[in-house]
Amino acid sequence: MKFFLSFKKELYNLVLKKKKIEKMYDQNNIFAKILRGEIPYKKVYEDKFVLAFHDINPQAKIHVLVIPKGAYVDLNDFSKNAKNDEIAGLIRGLGEVAKILNIAEAGYRYLGNNGKDGGQEVPHLHFHIFGGEKLGKMISK
Ligand code: AMP
Repeated sequence: MKFFLSFKKELYNLVLKKKKIEKMYDQNNIFAKILRGEIPYKKVYEDKFVLAFHDINPQAKIHVLVIPKGAYVDLNDFSKNAKNDEIAGLIRGLGEVAKILNIAEAGYRYLGNNGKDGGQEVPHLHFHIFGGEKLGKMISK
């Protein structure tokens, strides 16, 4: 009985520790609402794994966001917990969107902000695709 109780406590502490490290997914973030069709967006592309839509505040002539359909906070979460077909689906989706936007040949930038230092504002994994013009420096200092 004593062994069972200490095992239970140990397990409980492990779960707590894991929760502290991994951020919880917020079902009410703006992209979750877009995925549920609760708010309007300008769709560029959709398949089984991704949804792509125009950024509401474009930072280049073309600025599109590509998000996985699964509930993942960021790349830490996605790279650890997503299934292989979801990971492949996201990368294929990015390539497909560049083709649809007609920027695949001319070139473009795909960028992901991760966490606090990365400047991530929306806690659902997303990649930005910028294009349609010559893009500036990779990061501003
Ligand atoms: P990040 O800073 O990487 O988290 O980028 C979040 C991006 O989401 C910003 O570029 C915002 O302009 C964009 N954004 C926020 N709300 C919406 C929305 N409702 N529809 C489209 N883009 C949005």
